[in-house]
Amino acid sequence: LVVVKDINKHYGELHVLKGINATVNRGEVVVVIGPSGSGKSTLCRAINRLETIDDGVITIDGVKLPAEGRALATLRADVGMVFQAFNLFAHKTVLENVTLGPIKVRGLSKADAEKKAMALLERVGVANQAKKMPAQLSGGQQQRVAIARALAMEPKLILLDEPTSALDPEMINEVLEVMVDLANDGMTMIVVTHEMGFARKAADRVIFMAEGEIVEETTPEEFFTNPQSTRAKDFLSKIL
Ligand code: ATP
Ligand code: MG
Repeated sequence: LVVVKDINKHYGELHVLKGINATVNRGEVVVVIGPSGSGKSTLCRAINRLETIDDGVITIDGVKLPAEGRALATLRADVGMVFQAFNLFAHKTVLENVTLGPIKVRGLSKADAEKKAMALLERVGVANQAKKMPAQLSGGQQQRVAIARALAMEPKLILLDEPTSALDPEMINEVLEVMVDLANDGMTMIVVTHEMGFARKAADRVIFMAEGEIVEETTPEEFFTNPQSTRAKDFLSKIL
């Protein structure tokens, strides 16, 4: 579904992605892990075309990036994104946050969009918050709304960039449960997270990045119990 081929990205002098190659198959859950500054977010943003790349090719479901105009809008709609900071529209209700995209981009009627949104809010356990403003919700609730909003577009793929790292500990699990549920449901997911519990339970593959490179790519089992590189061993010794 996603093919990343030999991509490079610089910020000025800084070489942040150094010839990255990766493939994500339909229905696969890939966890991306690595030290701060290793390029995890940049890679996610490149896949969603929130960031340009210097060279290399990214294709999503056979469509090559960089797409422009209408093709880019379609691509963005097909790739759901959930960020560390919840990024909900602050001046819209929870329900409006979830219906906006489907109405504007997918052309749903308001009634259809609301029906679908309520089902999704139900699924992530926040249907009773639909009329509230985002600021009235806890971090965990907001993040679950952000996931519902991404799902409302019926994306082919969801990217989650450290979705739980801004949350208080007691709210992490409620978000991880939703993510595990999605994974079990066959959603294709790329998840940047240091939550090993999630990786163990849900990931098909772990990609370990360091300094702009993919250093290891293996099963979660193998990665956590038997990391090969010094950099992975060092990293794991710090987070375990
Ligand atoms: P973290 O775990 O802290 O989120 P990360 O692996 O997601 O780190 P990136 O955010 O991809 O890392 O950043 C990779 C490198 O690129 C870092 O050195 C960062 O400082 C730099 N960088 C990121 N965004 C920009 C930008 N817009 N302009 C300049 N440099 C940037
Ligand atoms: Mg990041």
